[in-house]
Amino acid sequence: MDTNSEKERLDELLLKYSNIDYINNLEIHVGQNNHEETVKGLTQFGKKVMFCTGTRAMRNYGFLTIYNELFKKHGLNALHYDNISSNPTLKQMKTGVKKAKEFQPDVIFALGGGSVIDTSKVIAVSLNGDVWDYVEKKKELDSGIPIVASSTTSGTGSHVTPYAVVTNTDTLEKKTLKNTLLLPKKSYIDLDIIRKMPDQVIATTGFDVLCHAAEVYTRDDCTTEAAEFCEAAFTSLREHLIASYNGDGINNKLGMIYADIFSGIALTLIGTHVPHAISHPISARFPEVNHGQSLAYVMAETSKKQIENGSDTLKSKYEKVSRLLGGNGDFVRTIFNYMKLLDLDKTKQTFNQQDCELIFLDTLGYRKGSVKRSPAPLSKNDIREIIYNSLEQR
Ligand code: NDP
Ligand code: MN
Repeated sequence: MDTNSEKERLDELLLKYSNIDYINNLEIHVGQNNHEETVKGLTQFGKKVMFCTGTRAMRNYGFLTIYNELFKKHGLNALHYDNISSNPTLKQMKTGVKKAKEFQPDVIFALGGGSVIDTSKVIAVSLNGDVWDYVEKKKELDSGIPIVASSTTSGTGSHVTPYAVVTNTDTLEKKTLKNTLLLPKKSYIDLDIIRKMPDQVIATTGFDVLCHAAEVYTRDDCTTEAAEFCEAAFTSLREHLIASYNGDGINNKLGMIYADIFSGIALTLIGTHVPHAISHPISARFPEVNHGQSLAYVMAETSKKQIENGSDTLKSKYEKVSRLLGGNGDFVRTIFNYMKLLDLDKTKQTFNQQDCELIFLDTLGYRKGSVKRSPAPLSKNDIREIIYNSLEQR
């Protein structure tokens, strides 16, 4: 697929499945130098914008200045909230909520990766209540202000999902809030911003895209609709992920933008299973381990065990995914190849036996719902083995 046909494929799938409410509500704009279009998009929601960004990149590359000037030009009153870190914590998010309560924005504009977008989502729905109550289902989430997202990574899919991932440093849990109010009203992706991603971010966020599609595709409840989005993602990943990491041209960056969108939509339609179930406890206890890296630790061992224990249908699904990703049918080997080519097999992080035990307990504790979605039966011992083999034995 060249990137033109990827755009066509996305348009085709969005039209084909526009009967699904979630898909019908998506508004996605992929462009280059589309900052002004983005700011014009914001004006539709009012005059007061809370502008959320990460720690350095957007400032360093001059995008903050570009946006601040455009806000002025279009008569918007913007409050800048920055320094949002990777694996954003509940405490940090609450600081943002406090500022939002004082400012009373009409719309939240997230310019960043999944961490900034998720923080913005939480701020948008927390003006009338505590987000952890919503996560824990102690209260029902029923109001929020609009979110507009410009995703600067490819990606987490967060710009097209109704999810926000929150790390609670008191309980040491990383949990996902799900609600249609979290779906951005508009999502913009700008190639000029995306192309600034450092190699390590291309690798880890690209691996996240791969896991989203692979986990959705192998779930027992995967639908024809979701499978079509996954297959489109696999094709784009095969053509563009390694090439993008190796710096080969803008076309590959664009291709990964689409891979991220395809996967993010599939993720919303179905959801993940065991690799994501284990990856959150890893990042919750080791915040310096980013989301994509935590997935890279566990993906191969998890799928190996699932292929051993699974049905013939599951085995052939994994084989098919391997081929769609450019491999020879051996999914585990394909994953190791991607990890090697993306330098995700060279991390310095170490985990001792106690770390593994805690991650194991978390996985079977607050992540048990995701574990239950495993497409192959996995005993407690299997899960323990996956975790130890992935983390301690490296
Ligand atoms: P982050 O948003 O954490 O960003 C990672 C790093 O990349 C930051 O240091 C950031 O720098 C830098 N960066 C981002 N974009 C650019 C760019 N264009 N150019 C240069 N540097 C850039 O990474 P992810 O996108 O992987 O988000 C991870 C979070 O998303 C996790 O918490 C994960 O759990 C969550 N997630 C959410 C999902 C959802 O549906 N809501 C789905 C999957 C994951 P700086 O700080 O300077 O901006
Ligand atoms: Mn993910």
